[in-house]
Order: sequence, then C-alpha cells, then structure tokens
Amino acid sequence: MPPGVPHFSFLDPYRIRVDDFTTPRDPSYESPALYLLSHTHSDHVAGLNAKSFGSRVICSADSKHMLLNYEAACDRIAFDNGGKAEKTKPYSHLKIDPMLVSDTREWVYRDLLRPLPLNTPTELELSADVTVTLTLIDANHCPGAVMFLVEGPLGNILHTGDLRAETCFLETLTRNPCLQKYIPPPVSFSYETLSDREKPLRTLDAIHLDTACLLVHHDILSKEEACEGLVKLMALFPPLTRFFVNCWTWGYEDILKAVGRAFNSKIHGDRYKYTIYMGTSDPSLRCLLTKDPSSTQFMLVKDGIVATE
Ligand SMILES: [Zn+2]
Repeated sequence: MPPGVPHFSFLDPYRIRVDDFTTPRDPSYESPALYLLSHTHSDHVAGLNAKSFGSRVICSADSKHMLLNYEAACDRIAFDNGGKAEKTKPYSHLKIDPMLVSDTREWVYRDLLRPLPLNTPTELELSADVTVTLTLIDANHCPGAVMFLVEGPLGNILHTGDLRAETCFLETLTRNPCLQKYIPPPVSFSYETLSDREKPLRTLDAIHLDTACLLVHHDILSKEEACEGLVKLMALFPPLTRFFVNCWTWGYEDILKAVGRAFNSKIHGDRYKYTIYMGTSDPSLRCLLTKDPSSTQFMLVKDGIVATE
C-alpha cells in the first residue's frame, strides 16, 4: 500500500492484510491469516518480489496474469534489443510449475496467487472460529483492479483499493447484487419485525478508502469526457498523421479503446504489452493491439521510446 496506511494495512478486526506484503520490524506485528492484492500498480505490491514470501494471496485472474508476466521497462527493452539473453520477471517465483528436484527426487510445486472470479461471494476460513465471505468487485481503475467486500462475524467491510469514482461507475455499484443490500432505497418503510441478521438492508461497518486524490479543488473529467476530448484533438491533424500514444501505465486502456474505435484502427504494441493485454479477460483489449507496425498509424510508446517489435 502507499506509505502511511495505518495498522500495517490490516482490515481490522480481521487478520486480513491488503496490498502490503512486507514484514515490518515492529514487535507488535503479527502475520495475517490472509493476504489480498487489489491490483498490480507498483505501490500495491511491495514485498511480493521477495523470494522469501510464501503466503497465499487472493487477487483477480487478470492481476495474477499481469503480475506473473511483469517485466520492468529497462529489462524488457534490454531483452528486446538483444542486450539480455533472458526475460526478467521479478514475480515469477510466486508460481513454480511442477518440477522434479534431482537431488531429492521430490516434486516441487507452488502457486501462491489464488484468483477468485468477480461478483462471486466465496467463503474463506481465517481461523478455527472465524470464516469470512469475500467478494471481488470491479474497481474501475486498471485491468484486474478490484475492491474487496469482506463479510463475517466481526463485521462487514468494503476495501475499495484504488478506484475512479465517476458517476457512471457509482451507478453500476448501486445495481451490483453483492452490494445492493448495503444501499438504502430512496423510499423505505420499517416495521421492525425482523432481527438485524434477517433484514434485507444491512450496514457496512467500515469502508477503507484511499482519499489522496479526493482533496483536489477542481472537477475531474469522466473517462468518457477525457477520451472524447482527446480523439477530437487527434482528428484535427491530417488523416495520415502517425500518433505515438504515451499511455504505458496500466489504467489508460480506455484511451486506447477510444482511439481504436474513433479511428476504426488497431494500435501497435510491443511484445510485452501485447502479451499482457492478450492474457486479460477484456475482449475489447484483446482485439485492439497488433504487433504489425505497418498496419496502423497509432503506436503505443513508453516515454517516447517506440517499440522495436
Ligand atoms: Zn493504482
């Protein structure tokens, strides 16, 4: 988690830790019963690159794919330019396919990232007497990014991770069947005939929300408005203009989709970007990229560096 998150990033009172996989040098720290990973931005994966990390982590299937195949920019550019013989994947140790150790003749296998489907409540045992129901919900942030709804005997908690709380996204949340029981209707009548556990309308005991970007004093465009403005600007250029689209960080995919749809064109991406997007669950991303630079005038670049493949 970003620096400054209290309580070692635990979802108190549960022994669940979110987006922090380091081991604090603090005598009061106790290992969690369960780790959660909301998405793969670098400030949310601290500690996962340690070879000594050996705990189970719940995440989305897209986050698992992206993390296992992650390559730092300098490493992948060096590999693609022939400066390195092998790809460097700093999180690949989290999954080891079955292999026979010659010394001991024992099979070794590990797969620490456990993906759960979205909008599917799943029971997980934290201890002999505490079982929670965990639901992953899309966070409108980047591929694979999710919120976590934790429901159990010690309370009901929503951890949002990073999310873009634009109006259309919030409206979809009000219709999410996993969240509707926490959203009061515009009109309600209470006859007090049911116990709290039986009532269709529940109360969240806590919402964990990163407020770092809530403190700005200007209106922020919705994704749709921002993308529309961008493609209108691009359309002002002559028809055969080559565009180098510098939106490399995960989370700018709506720009790529908007450009692809507005100009009815594919976008060139290099080996790495192509591999990542082709492995996600988003069909519109999977059909957007091409590895043939001669087939499009739109090139995905990193800090001005044009992919060579
Ligand atoms: Zn993020």
